[in-house]
Amino acid sequence: MAACDLLIKNAAVLKDYETLEENVDIAVSEGVIREIGKGLGEKWEAKEVLSGKGKLFMPGLIDSHMHTGQQLLKGLVLDAKPIIWTRIMLPFESTLTPEKMRLSAQAAALEMIKCGTTGFVDAGSYFMEDAAAVYGESGLRGALSYSTMDEEGLPASIAMDAEGAVKRTDDLFDHFHHKGNLKVYYSLRALNSCSNKLVELAAKKAEERETMLQAHMNEYMGEVSGIVKREGMRPYEYLEKMGALGSHFLGAHSLILTEAEIELIKERGVRVCHCPFSNCGKAVPDTPKLLEMGIPVGMGTDGAAHGGLSLWNEMKIFRSIMNIYHGVPNGNPKVMPAERLFQIVLEGGAAALGEEGSLGRLEAGYKADMISINMDQPHLCPTGNKLHTLLECVNAGDVWDMIVGGRLLMKNRKVLSLDEERIMYESRKYMEARGQ
Ligand SMILES: [Zn+2]
Repeated sequence: MAACDLLIKNAAVLKDYETLEENVDIAVSEGVIREIGKGLGEKWEAKEVLSGKGKLFMPGLIDSHMHTGQQLLKGLVLDAKPIIWTRIMLPFESTLTPEKMRLSAQAAALEMIKCGTTGFVDAGSYFMEDAAAVYGESGLRGALSYSTMDEEGLPASIAMDAEGAVKRTDDLFDHFHHKGNLKVYYSLRALNSCSNKLVELAAKKAEERETMLQAHMNEYMGEVSGIVKREGMRPYEYLEKMGALGSHFLGAHSLILTEAEIELIKERGVRVCHCPFSNCGKAVPDTPKLLEMGIPVGMGTDGAAHGGLSLWNEMKIFRSIMNIYHGVPNGNPKVMPAERLFQIVLEGGAAALGEEGSLGRLEAGYKADMISINMDQPHLCPTGNKLHTLLECVNAGDVWDMIVGGRLLMKNRKVLSLDEERIMYESRKYMEARGQ
């Protein structure tokens, strides 16, 4: 008998985005899946055994774009007049403090664990060292960034020049890149808010340090036309000219793209991601085409202010948008099937985290990041197709266990790495005191 840390027995297992097997065991040790198959109890002796009866295990969901610093804006953005970035988000972020960021990260980590999100990419905020310390404790896997921009007229608390902006990420990188499950990415908030000098500096640093560079891209018409006016070319063409594109570049949103930009994205190996709930008020991307071309597409929530951090919601919304926009006019009901949606969240998410080949599947040698769903509930059972039910009917509250890097972060919906009750109390107290 070989020794392992954890053995999951007799579960239904979604091994990737489409392959589902019944009565399977999973052996995990040192953070990695060692073996997956039937009857592993005969071969592996485990320190801890989890019963898979009535459960479905699958790779943990990956949020390719979220904002820790907007966690305390939940409920304060819906139906607001555009552009909420300048009217609500920016003023709010300029008032963040280390205490608020700690609370934001605690609330975000707690929400992600309860929603089945094992990995995330933070799109950039402030006091990220404080957030990083919390995420380290939470056990989640994540990439963190500093909000990076140097435009004139920003509130004094967040105004900085190009060197100062990039230096913040340098320091965060030195302290937290590859510390536990964390990575640090360079970021450009949005091209309109960044000088040529800043774009050049951030791109150079990301390349030197072999990490990713991310930016909000092609999200609003006004933003795109601002760059066309300033630079005489489209946003992705501008980044190509600046030498910033490559497989280390993550373009969030990427909604309003020309043919030439899509070709550039493909040629340079750029990764993109969409945020369906947030994007609904802006534009509909041509995702079927991007996927057909082999471009890695992930899915993000865009932070808790845009409808919370549940990727289960985002998948349902995205499926509906894709069907009505691309499916119905072409008489194609299968324009965005369940398999494709899980592929976006899992494989696109692994690409956004720079973890292709190590995340997004339950397979020997892959990192042990997984969740279980309690399928033994009236709204999920019986079902003639578990994969379809997973997409159509499962919600965040059905996520039962979470394992990240082999560590149990939630068991039977009890969060083990964070104090749920205290975080709920503190964040409620914050919201009540707001504006007093
Ligand atoms: Zn965003």
